[in-house]
Amino acid sequence: MSLTVVGSIAFDSVRTPFGERDRMLGGSAVHFALAAGFFTDVHVVGPVGEDFGQEHMELLRGRGVDVSDIERVEGGETFFWRGHYEYDLNVAHTDDTQLNVFGEFEPKLSDASRAADVLFLANIQPELQRQVRAQCDGARFAALDSMNLWIETARDSLTDAVREVECLIINDAEIRQLTDEANLARAAKAVMELGPRVIVAKQGEYGAALFTPTGFFAIPGFPLEDVHDPTGAGDSFAGGFLGYLDGEAERSGDDLLLGDDILRRAMAYGTVLASFNVEDFGTERVARLNRSEIDARLTELRAMTEFG
Ligand code: AMP
Repeated sequence: MSLTVVGSIAFDSVRTPFGERDRMLGGSAVHFALAAGFFTDVHVVGPVGEDFGQEHMELLRGRGVDVSDIERVEGGETFFWRGHYEYDLNVAHTDDTQLNVFGEFEPKLSDASRAADVLFLANIQPELQRQVRAQCDGARFAALDSMNLWIETARDSLTDAVREVECLIINDAEIRQLTDEANLARAAKAVMELGPRVIVAKQGEYGAALFTPTGFFAIPGFPLEDVHDPTGAGDSFAGGFLGYLDGEAERSGDDLLLGDDILRRAMAYGTVLASFNVEDFGTERVARLNRSEIDARLTELRAMTEFG
């Protein structure tokens, strides 16, 4: 089993009340792959510019991520995002988005990327997400994330992209905006009517909620005293969630039927990966993370959320 992701591969300039970084490695696909790589084989699809360094490729390769579908565009510049956060770290302000090499990108997936059982359409232009969904026609579980920019500028193609996936993983404010429903339960129901049967509404430091046709589950964020930068937390969550599902399906011979029990455990892995992500800027904390730290925090989270 393996997992393919398309999404931004970026340089991010970020300011939070606790510090700032200029042009650090980021992007939805990068944060996702570094998290999912703990659980399964990951193929990343997307373009980078000439400014993208070998050390960034090595970081991904070091996590076992297949980078052969990362296309280097001669004379091109890597996607760039600049943002800042206020004391309430749940609210991100975008100051600049430069699509650069993503503006002209036409994905051509290798056989290995096409053959994946699980597909993640991380946050990027919805038309690009649809092209990759069409090429990965064997994927039995496809999930999608997006953001306010695409809801505002490409709502119709985003809605079409949502129709083509089994799972939506999105911020709660954005699911309300996408569906024009103020109530989260109604918004999740409206998405299910489009097609997806698994809806994850991310709620920043407050955690995440899971809606399926047969159940509801909510998990708090892991309580941390030192948070430096939430950039990429949502993608690390998705990486833990989908990476665990793919790895576990392989281990148990499950056919990705994905009952509520395994989805709930996947929510816990997503929560743990997101909690590490926010402890330092960009990819810095997840880059030096190891599996035993993940397992130890999962055990703590399980103990904290149990009640009899
Ligand atoms: P998150 O904090 O998990 O929502 O994701 C943050 C990451 O998304 C950053 O590393 C950015 O490079 C990337 N990003 C920001 N805006 C966009 C956009 N419009 N399309 C794709 N990726 C984006």
